[in-house]
Amino acid sequence: MKSMKKEVLFSKEVISGRIRSLADEISRDYAGGELIVIGVLKGAFIFMADLIRSLQIPCMVDFAQLASYGSGSVSSGNVAIKKDIGLPIAGKDVLIVEDIVDTGLTLSFLVKTLKERSPRSLKVCVFLDKKMRRKVPFTADYTGFTIDDGFVVGYGLDFNEQARFLPDVYVIKE
Ligand code: 5GP
Repeated sequence: MKSMKKEVLFSKEVISGRIRSLADEISRDYAGGELIVIGVLKGAFIFMADLIRSLQIPCMVDFAQLASYGSGSVSSGNVAIKKDIGLPIAGKDVLIVEDIVDTGLTLSFLVKTLKERSPRSLKVCVFLDKKMRRKVPFTADYTGFTIDDGFVVGYGLDFNEQARFLPDVYVIKE
């Protein structure tokens, strides 16, 4: 990782400003209510931790982990639940929090799976969106930043389990 060339894409200051606006928007939309926030492990854990601490409404938290079977960092579409949530979500307002949407395959699968459990509402908040790379149609309800193609790391996002701890988001330069 140390030898890998990378460039800051979003600094921690820019990230925290954007998260405050996102949290305000979400708090307005769910005013008077209570949310179950479901973070997708591992990449979303830092984004989720910052986001929920900026919300002005109460929330409960849970986590899901998905396994995507295929080669490397490219989503194959064969997605399965590796770790399920523990909270019942029937009749609840649920917000999925994910690090990045790329092909859309992972989130389409998770949304379909959780909808079968009859939540009152189900929305998705993504930190980053690579809109141009969709294989299936998918639109997040809340988006931190839309980015071009390119591999990003930091702020929870990894490269072979490295770089998650970095406070800024970087794009890898070949
Ligand atoms: P999708 O099913 O939308 O193609 O896959 C989304 C998942 O692919 C993300 O949760 C993430 O794990 C991974 N991913 C896609 N693009 C990137 C990227 O640029 N950087 C990192 N670290 N992970 C990515």
